[in-house]
Amino acid sequence: MMSMPIVSPAALRRTLQAFERIVGPDHVYADVEGRHGYTDAFSPFDDPAAQEPLAAVAPASAEEVQAIVRIAAEQGIALWPISRGKNFGYGGASPRIPGIVMLDLVRMNRIIEVDPDMGYAILEPGVGFDDLYHYLIDHRIPLWTSAPAHTWGSVVGNALERGVGYTPYGEHAAQVCGLEVVLPTGELVRTGMGAMPGSKAWPLFKYGFGPSWDGMFMQSNFGIVTKMGLWLMPEPEATLNLSMSLPRVEDLPAAIDALRPLKVSGVVQANPSFGNAIRTLATRNIRSSYWDGKGVMPQDALDAAAAKAGIGQWNFSVRLFGYEKVNEFNAGLVRDAFAKAVKVDFKESRWHRGEDLRHSGSPVPSLSVLRIVDWLGGPGGHLTFSPISPFRGDEAWKQYQTTRALYERHGFDYYGGFTAGERYLNHITMIVFNRDDAEMTARARTLFKALIATAAANGWGEYRTHIQWYDQVAQTYSFNKGALGRMNQAVKDALDPKGILAPGKMGIWPRRYRENG
Ligand code: ADP
Repeated sequence: MMSMPIVSPAALRRTLQAFERIVGPDHVYADVEGRHGYTDAFSPFDDPAAQEPLAAVAPASAEEVQAIVRIAAEQGIALWPISRGKNFGYGGASPRIPGIVMLDLVRMNRIIEVDPDMGYAILEPGVGFDDLYHYLIDHRIPLWTSAPAHTWGSVVGNALERGVGYTPYGEHAAQVCGLEVVLPTGELVRTGMGAMPGSKAWPLFKYGFGPSWDGMFMQSNFGIVTKMGLWLMPEPEATLNLSMSLPRVEDLPAAIDALRPLKVSGVVQANPSFGNAIRTLATRNIRSSYWDGKGVMPQDALDAAAAKAGIGQWNFSVRLFGYEKVNEFNAGLVRDAFAKAVKVDFKESRWHRGEDLRHSGSPVPSLSVLRIVDWLGGPGGHLTFSPISPFRGDEAWKQYQTTRALYERHGFDYYGGFTAGERYLNHITMIVFNRDDAEMTARARTLFKALIATAAANGWGEYRTHIQWYDQVAQTYSFNKGALGRMNQAVKDALDPKGILAPGKMGIWPRRYRENG
């Protein structure tokens, strides 16, 4: 455990006064209410306020970010950047440790440029998925966003955390092209072609000249991203959705193996997600409406609830985006592949340009998915455990069985799904607990630790994790006695000599914290 450098009240006062001179007194929040906004609303800890920051500051421009960073470095006060703070299931707006100042980028919400021909946007971090969606509609720009299940968060923040969406552009980190970053020294850098004055190719060519650095600022604490180039998908002529359900739990591996060649060859470009029955049931109602017992919901109760709701034990959609004729042809390939592999029900629906977008597969603004956290009646907390699996039925099945068994051994329903990448599956599972039940909340934490350890013992690593388990997950990436962690530390110390940016993010601690520890 690292211990924190102490911030003296006098140093804090001086720092906040200096911040007020930069952003104006209305944009420094140091009172109880202001600080409370930066807690994890779904926290797995009894006292989320224990994590509260000292204050928050909300700049309006990259220049203001630079000025703030320089003062923080001078005073030795750590900053924790967030874009919109909707990192739900992974810590929300909360920092890793208390005793720091939040750098809230929500006011930097300009959509700087959208190019309809080239299909990109240049965005500031405060732009939400909903903002971008409405901007494109209002300006009649035929480009689509790609968004995660709820659309409250920041487009930039989500891409930096490598979030996923459900269109062909659903691997959000892969759409990033060119960043503007404030380094922990206050220096402003543009990556790729953005480093050349006058270049028009910043959001077009990902690499520039020499080493390419966009990836270094994702899931890291090496810089504060103030602008991002992001590729957007041209609105397709049509979409064709094949919605499928598998009647039996054990049909999953065959369905995964049926999808793999379609993904690897590019016939299916979006990311279908195989969700278990609970994942669908929980979007509709709370558990006691289906089954009123105690402990884990048994499989026969799940079978009955699924049958009554008209859903399968696994439910997923393969949606094709593009030209209508190509979609129709590819839909034949998809139907054949699945029908050969497994007993499956198909429901087809089609959308054509100009029709209601809610039926298109474009992520229209929605928060309804957040309802699932009240599965046990609420007030619900949740913790997301998301290991990567190779795209093979047998591997995914082993991971599923191991994970579900651990959930159930600790008294929790397994809630999960496998979202298809190109060559991997992102197994996103969620521990849902009642926050007013301290015993259950403690059990959720115990389960989470066990999940990480068991996964690592099987060679399964998480793609992302809750802020309070950064260290534990980082330590599972331990090849050559933790060489990757040492390299991260060396980069951290070089770029952030004063150790002020997001200490502990992804298990990367600045030197002064390591020495204190
Ligand atoms: P969202 O609202 O999209 O879910 P958050 O604002 O909660 O995203 O950000 C999630 C995490 O990503 C933050 O805790 C922070 O570590 C990192 N992050 C977000 N925005 C930035 C940024 N502009 N620069 C650097 N890191 C960021």
